[in-house]
Formats: sequence, structure tokens, C-alpha cells
Amino acid sequence: MGAVEELLKEYEKVWAIGYSLALMGWDSETYMPEGSARERGEASAALVALKQSILTSEKFLDLVERAEEEASDDVERGIVRVLRRALKYYTRIPVELLREEERVTNEAKIAWRKAKKRADFGTFRPYLERIVEIKREEAEHLGYENHPYDALLDLYEEGFTVKDADRLFSGLKPLTKELERILSSGWPQEHPLEETPYDAVRMRELNERILDILGFEREYQRLDTSAHPFTEGIGLYDVRITTWYHGKDFRRSLLATVHEFGHSLYERGCDPSLWKTPVCGGVSLGVHESQSRFWENYIARSRAFSSLVAPLVREYLNLDASPDDIFTYFNLVRPSTIRVEADEVTYNFHIMLRYELEKGLIEGSIEVKELPQAWNEKMEEYLGITPPNDAEGVLQDIHWSLGAMGYFPTYSIGTVLAVQIGRKMEEDLDLPSLVSEGKFSPIREWLREKIHRWGSVYPPKELVRRALGEDLDPKAFVDYVKVKYR
Ligand SMILES: [Zn+2]
Repeated sequence: MGAVEELLKEYEKVWAIGYSLALMGWDSETYMPEGSARERGEASAALVALKQSILTSEKFLDLVERAEEEASDDVERGIVRVLRRALKYYTRIPVELLREEERVTNEAKIAWRKAKKRADFGTFRPYLERIVEIKREEAEHLGYENHPYDALLDLYEEGFTVKDADRLFSGLKPLTKELERILSSGWPQEHPLEETPYDAVRMRELNERILDILGFEREYQRLDTSAHPFTEGIGLYDVRITTWYHGKDFRRSLLATVHEFGHSLYERGCDPSLWKTPVCGGVSLGVHESQSRFWENYIARSRAFSSLVAPLVREYLNLDASPDDIFTYFNLVRPSTIRVEADEVTYNFHIMLRYELEKGLIEGSIEVKELPQAWNEKMEEYLGITPPNDAEGVLQDIHWSLGAMGYFPTYSIGTVLAVQIGRKMEEDLDLPSLVSEGKFSPIREWLREKIHRWGSVYPPKELVRRALGEDLDPKAFVDYVKVKYR
């Protein structure tokens, strides 16, 4: 048996643990009885430790070493690359530091929830201070070339650096002017459908119907309900998505469903020959988000989709909305303090602000105690609004309490990349007519062929270059906004 083959055989254990953890994770957000949380947490932690011990065992490290010498094609090299990355995290960061992070973030989550409830940053501040210290230490252990934040960005988006992020966000700055133009042009900021109630059972049926039209495979996929929508790729043949229902403003439920459909399609599209290997599954958070945003923004927020969906909205929700109404309603532009409620035009400003603050925290140019004020000033600068309190400002996201620093930029990577994918696709396909006729299989096939089937064989930057013949390009997004919101 060759080293790669032997390595993959050993990896099957890790794969099976990952499969179980994913299923348990999905269950804990959907159907698990509340009282089981503690027991589930212990079972998960034991499995994570088991996985880690297999990956860092001498036997496994040796197999990776030998496989690296033997790897003879792109897939084999990809397998070694992905495993090396996983090992880097486990072997370079001292166990005590990882344990300390686990402990601090467990407490920080609770403190954050309290702080948010009371709109009191002070409650959360000492925890965040400790988290920032831990993250800075981790960056030193992981290593970087130019900036400590590079080491953290790389955990979520392989190869993405401060230099790339600076280029991305400075390329998005012209959106400030576009936003001013859009707002002063009288582009709608509100719509009565935001307040129109719907029946949740019928809404669920509408979501299911739309998923059927998009090409959701019932045999391997399912839709459920959770507090926050998410996708869980349990295995190649089992991908679950969730959505939410608020009883009014049906756009939120529908667009979340379409968004998660995009994530699930990516997970399902991996080439079956990669099954159970470390390269089966999305390559990075940014590329993953490009798939969900492509379906949510480029497809579902288009005029063509509005005409496809208008008769369904009438049939299922009994709402008399024209395609024009729906297009307007799906594309309102309104600066808001809350990221998750932001529209396409203002969304990237929310990320830009978080990126600049995180970078400052990690390099030491901003202190945690200065965050609330720095947050509000940037919000005023970018969107012309100031949060009424810290709950709607600096405390709104859960990410920092989990120790996720370097994560936010992947949202903008995905949002921009989604537009580039759409433009490239339009060179090959007549999207408006396919979408308005509900013919999605050529679109799914295009994505599968160019992106999905490769899993993580190539690093994200290389995958993008191979698929699109270009790099991440913020100008494409700015141009798209200029044309769409005219
Ligand atoms: Zn997403």
C-alpha cells in the first residue's frame, strides 16, 4: 500500500468522527431537548479530543510526511496540504493555550449574552481583553510574514493576508459615493411587505417549493427550522439546511432559505472520488459564502427571480405582489446599525468596520476599552448613523466571544466573489431567461464544473483563478452596484 493510500485509510477514522460531530451539531441546533446540552457538550468534547489525538499521533504525522514525498497529482498534493494546515494549528499552538481559550470563551459567551441584554460593554470587556491577548499569542505561535493578523485570517481563508484585505476594502470604499447617490436618488428604503404577516406553515411550504425549483435533492438534503439559519454538511450524501420564520416580512425566511441552499449545493457538489478524504468539502469560508451569496444576491435578488416567485407568493401566502413589488422589496437600501439586517449596498461597510477594528486590536493600535467609541465613530463615518446603545453597536455579534477573529472578512470575500461568479457565468449562460423560466440545472452544472467538484484540492486563490481566470476584484462589486441600483 502506498503512503497516500495508507494515510487515507487512517484518515477514515477522523472522517467518521467529523461526520458524527456534524450530525450532533445539527441536532443540537434543531431537535435536541434543551436539558441535553451539557451531556452533548461532553460527548462532543471527547470526540474532538479523540480526533485531535489521531491527527497528532506519531503514526499519522509519519504518514503525512511520507505521503508528501509520494504525492504525484493535484488531488494528492491537496490532501497533504489540507492535513498540513490542520496539523499546523494543533502542533504549533501549545495545548495549554488552546485549553485556556476554550475556558475563556466558554465564560465569555455567557458574559457577552448578559452584556448584550443590558447593553453594557463593561460586562464583556475583561473577557474580550483576555481573548485578544490569547489571539495575539496564537498568532505568534502560528507564525506570519508581515502582520500578526495574517496568521488569524489564514485560519478562515487560506493564504488571505492583511495586504489582500486592505486591497479588498479600499477597493470597496467607492461604495460610499454610490450609497449617497442611491439614497438621494429616491431609491426605496421601505416597503409595506416588511410589515405584512404570513402564515408560517404556508411559508414553509413556499420555501420547500422554491427549493424544489432550485434543484434541492430530497434524497440527500433536508430543510429544518432553527434560531439562526445554517448549513451542516454532515457527509457528501447528507447535507442539512435550516431557515427561520418571524411571522412577517417573508423575505427574511425566503432569502435565508436560498442562501443556505447555495451553501448546501457546494457541499453536495464535491466529486464523489474525493469522498471521505480531507479535501471533500468547501475550501474556505470566503468561497463558501460566495456560493450562498451568489444564490441569495445574484439570483434571488434579480428581476428575473421576482417574476418567477411572484405567482408563488400569491399562491402560498395569498399576497398580491407584482414582480416589481417583489424586486423593490428584496432590494431596499437602508443604512442600519445591524449587520445581519443590512442590504447588499451597505453590507460591506459593516465588515470593513469590523476588519479595521480587529486588525487594530491584534496589532495593538486599538485597545479593547476604546472599542465602543471607535465602533460608533466608524459607523457614523461609513453609514451616517450612530447605534443608540452598545447592544446595537459593538456587542451585536457573537463572533468575538467565541474567539473568532479573522472571520469577518470572509463575508466580504464571499459577497464580492459572488458577483464575479455571476458575471463570468453570464458569458456562458443567459441567466435572466433561465431564472425567470425556473431552469436552474445549467446554473448548478456550471458551478459544479468550475468550483464545487474540486472540493479543497486547490487553495482558494488558485481555485478562483482556475474557475474565473481572475483574482478577487472589489471593482466588479462596485460596478455591479452602480448598474443594479440605477
Ligand atoms: Zn452563509
